[in-house]
Amino acid sequence: MTKRIETICVQGGYTPGNGEPRQIPIVQSTTFKYATSEDMGKLFDLEASGYFYTRLQNPTNDYVAAKIAQLEGGTAAMLTSSGQAANFYAVFNIATCGDHVVASSSIYGGTFNLFSVTMKKMGVDFTFVSPDASDEELDAAFRPNTKAMFGETIANPALTVLDIERFAAAAHRHGVPLIVDNTFATPVNCRPIEWGADIVTHSTTKYMDGHGAAVGGAIVDSGNFDWMAHADKFPGLCTPDDSYHGITYAEKFGKEGAFITKCTAQLMRDFGSIQSPQHAFYLNLGLESLHVRMARHCENGQAVAEFLAKHPKVESVNYCGLPGDPYYAVAKKYLPNGSCGVVSFTMKGGREAAGQFLRHLKLAAIETHVADARTCCLNPASSTHRQMTDEQLEAAGVPAGLVRISCGLESKEDLIEDIAQALEQA
Ligand SMILES: *Cc1c(COP(=O)(O)O)cnc(C)c1O
Repeated sequence: MTKRIETICVQGGYTPGNGEPRQIPIVQSTTFKYATSEDMGKLFDLEASGYFYTRLQNPTNDYVAAKIAQLEGGTAAMLTSSGQAANFYAVFNIATCGDHVVASSSIYGGTFNLFSVTMKKMGVDFTFVSPDASDEELDAAFRPNTKAMFGETIANPALTVLDIERFAAAAHRHGVPLIVDNTFATPVNCRPIEWGADIVTHSTTKYMDGHGAAVGGAIVDSGNFDWMAHADKFPGLCTPDDSYHGITYAEKFGKEGAFITKCTAQLMRDFGSIQSPQHAFYLNLGLESLHVRMARHCENGQAVAEFLAKHPKVESVNYCGLPGDPYYAVAKKYLPNGSCGVVSFTMKGGREAAGQFLRHLKLAAIETHVADARTCCLNPASSTHRQMTDEQLEAAGVPAGLVRISCGLESKEDLIEDIAQALEQA
């Protein structure tokens, strides 16, 4: 029986047997016991599945990863210590020194920095394309050594909406997978795999956790990308791994399991960005109410966006739920039930006015965070995006005077009253 998304949020990933804990148990153990060296040796050779060391795998994390895989409609998933680790692993698992990746320019500032500075130092080259680029412009960005395409369903903080089907088609024309960061939409509002995405990533720190309690990330594989059909491009998946006695991931684990197995066996083994079982437990508490919370975040976001759009001190509002928004039509297709609770707007009077507005807010706090139960605000140009030049800010759709509001789960009337009085005083 295929379960609906609400049921997967509550019960997916873990099915206790008779007399076992109803809630996912926290397996707070770094290591696991075996009777013979031979038993354990099989695990090290990836000949048998099982637990031996929590850096590689832990039952608590696996239950929660299995829930996220079901939510996204994928075949395998893994948890990471943060969204940054998830995006780094997802890309580096297939693109290494000498390779190239095409990425949307409208992405999270931390991801932009990871790609354009840190991974560049590691020898991976990126070409950034507008999320609105034509098919011809997308095609022109690919090179013979391109290994992946990357974008965000709803970009943080520009709030552009990715035309996933069109980006997936471009990636597939060039024989590479599309990786989509689905943090803001969550699988409750969009399931990128259904539109052709091959790999989905998350900063679970945001709506999935939803309470500002635990930093974390996740990677989900659709199981759809045929690595062997493009074996020359993906030697890491399609040729023997000497560090595992010559197994070939795409042969041994198939399309469904190769990507996540390699990512765990190589990248998690060597870089070690694990999520602690305790954090995975907190994450699961968030997932249990994700479908209920997302509806309210969207309701509050929509009400705040509509209020701001009518206010005389506001120059422009970005929210794909507003009929005048450039992404309204795309959002209707990919996000029919709502997008998220994050709204951004530019005040008349630019950076100065934005600063005054933020100072006068009483309910909404200034925070480097989004997507939790409590409403928070930020001026990206003076915080998360301060590494970027004015030209890069413009290209990323984040002008210097932009304010981002992440609408929490409070009363929308209270939120609007707070915003109204702060605008009045600015
Ligand atoms: C926050 C965020 C990240 C980074 O995640 P962390 O958990 O903070 O490491 C990546 N992508 C998006 C879209 C984000 O909002």
